[in-house]
Amino acid sequence: MTVPRFWRKIDNRYNLRGTRCGNCGTAFFPPRRICPGCRRDGSVETYDFEGRGEVITFTVIRAEPPSMDGQTPYVVAIIETPEGARFTSQLVDVEPDDVEIGMPVEATFRKIAEDGADGVIHYGVKFEPTARD
Ligand SMILES: [Zn+2]
Repeated sequence: MTVPRFWRKIDNRYNLRGTRCGNCGTAFFPPRRICPGCRRDGSVETYDFEGRGEVITFTVIRAEPPSMDGQTPYVVAIIETPEGARFTSQLVDVEPDDVEIGMPVEATFRKIAEDGADGVIHYGVKFEPTARD
C-alpha cells in the first residue's frame, strides 16, 4: 500500500477496525466483506485489532510534506498482526536507524496531521516499538 493511500484511509485507522471471517478466522485490514478463502461459506464480521504486530518492511521518509512539519525524517512501516492483517503506519518514538525487520510494535494514539496554522488537528493510530522488559 502506498503512502498517499494510507492518508486517504485514515478513518479506518482511528480504532484499528477491520473485519474477520468467522469461518476460518482470517482477519482483514482494510476491511473486506467477503473472505477470499471461504467465499459464500464465510461469515465476515467487524473485528477490532489489538494493535500489536511486527515490522515486515519500512521506508524512511526524508522529504517533508507540509502537514508533517518538523517531523522528518520519519519512518513509515508495513506492520503485520498475529491475525495476518497488514497496516501501513508511521512508527514513532524510534530513530530511523534503529528500525529493524521483525521489530515488535504496538499501536499508540497520536497526532496525525495539522491543517494549516490554526487548522484542525487530526488524531489517529501510529505504531511504536513494544517496550521490552
Ligand atoms: Zn474465511
